[in-house]
Formats: sequence, C-alpha cells, structure tokens
Amino acid sequence: MIDFGFAFRASRKDSDMAAQTNLFSCLKDNFGVLLHDPASGATAAIDAPEAAPVEAALKNTGWRLTDILVTHHHADHTAGIGELKARHKCRVIAPRAEAARIAHVDDIVGEGDTVRVGALEGRVIDTPGHTAGHISYFFPADKLAFVGDTLFSIGCGRVIEGNAEMMWRSLLKLRGLPDDTQFYCGHEYTEANIRFAKTVEPDNKALAVRAEEVAKLIAARKFTIPATIGAEKAANPFLRADMAEVAKSVGLSGSPAWKVFAAIRERKNRF
Ligand code: ZN
Ligand code: FE
Repeated sequence: MIDFGFAFRASRKDSDMAAQTNLFSCLKDNFGVLLHDPASGATAAIDAPEAAPVEAALKNTGWRLTDILVTHHHADHTAGIGELKARHKCRVIAPRAEAARIAHVDDIVGEGDTVRVGALEGRVIDTPGHTAGHISYFFPADKLAFVGDTLFSIGCGRVIEGNAEMMWRSLLKLRGLPDDTQFYCGHEYTEANIRFAKTVEPDNKALAVRAEEVAKLIAARKFTIPATIGAEKAANPFLRADMAEVAKSVGLSGSPAWKVFAAIRERKNRF
C-alpha cells in the first residue's frame, strides 16, 4: 500500500454537491477537460492544449473558467494558457518543478498539496517520468483523477525526462488510488494501446473485455475515457509489470518490476 499522507474521504456529505466534468478533444488527439463545482460555480480546465476548444466547452456548459490546473510543461498541455488567462483572469496552478518552463503561473504545487476549485478539494500527487516534474490531481470526494501524460488507458506516457524506475513508481501511486476512481488522461490513444497490449498479454480476459468496449465506443464516435483505476489495473500491461505472467511474457521472470516495465515501454516505443 502506498501512503499518500492523507485520508480518503469515504463519501461526500449530503450537503455537498458532486463535481461535474466536461470532456472534449483538442489539437490532434489531446483531451481537454473541465472540472466544475456546482456549489460555487468555479470551473477548472485541466491543462490547456489550445484555447478555442476550451472556450467552446465553456460556452456549451455555461460554466465560468476560474482555474487552470497544469500537469506538465509540454506545449500540447500549456499552449492555450496565455489566451485563456487574458480573457478569464483565471488562476494558473502548475507543478513546482516545472513552473519556470510554464508561462503565466500563479501558484506552484507538489506532492501532498491541496488544490481548491470552489468547494472541491484536490490533492497533488507527484508523478514524474514523462517529464521530471509531472503532477497528477486527485479529488477524493468525487474519486476523480487527472493524470496528464503519466497514465493512458491501456498505456502510459513515454519516459522522456525521467527514467523507467521513476515512471513505474509514479504508475504505482496511481494504481493505489481507489478502484472506483475515474481517471482522465491527456490523450486519446486507447485503440492503439490495446493493439500493443494484446502482444504482451494475449490471454488477458480483462483486456479482451476492454478491447470490445473500446471498439464499440470508437464505432459510436465516443471517447474511450474516463476509465476506472480498478478496470485499468486488470488490463493495462504498464500497471501490471509486477505480475508474474507479464514478466514471463517479456522474458524477464524474476526481474524487478521496474525492469519489466522498462522492457514493455521499450517494446511499445518500437511498436
Ligand atoms: Zn506530454
Ligand atoms: Fe501530451
């Protein structure tokens, strides 16, 4: 078990109102998502790949942008910040370790910090590996996680600035969230991820179930996320590097999990 240093609030009080989300596509295959607190009217954009689709989502929902929660410094997650901030005067929250590489930052956060969007309370989880300072946001009362380019459905981000051991540890933190946590990631890569995952675990039943579900969603022109942590850890090979059958399938039985993870990630890079 991973100790996050804070207690999960098991359920919300009756007086609380549930968070709402709005998911939309940006750029080529990025997701944009709004997180809305109906009690206060506050709304956060998780990352800002580009301004126009965020504006369209705000118009569709009638929500007012108060915050931008940034997961990491890559341009496909930050390019829209300047325009959105100029227009909405919203507060920009960014990872401490990457603040120098992100323009227009107001507040910097790291592991264990609390982020408030109106009455919604999120916790910051350091998830380095894709970038050195990448963070994720977890809202325990609503069991919502925003994981940027660390975890994708049936995949994970490329290890660009960190190393495999670091990325594996970050994925373990996300795997340790409650099973019924719904996570939102930075990209719609699920279909291609499934094609690769089947080469690692051709007999994984949970993966077959997810593949069928995703095929239906894609045929219906729907997004494949959010997914739940519980379903993900049964089907995503990158969350399963410590399973004997996964180690065996990449010829690394008995090796440390992070080495198995590194081997799977290497294979995916070349897939
Ligand atoms: Zn990225
Ligand atoms: Fe990205």
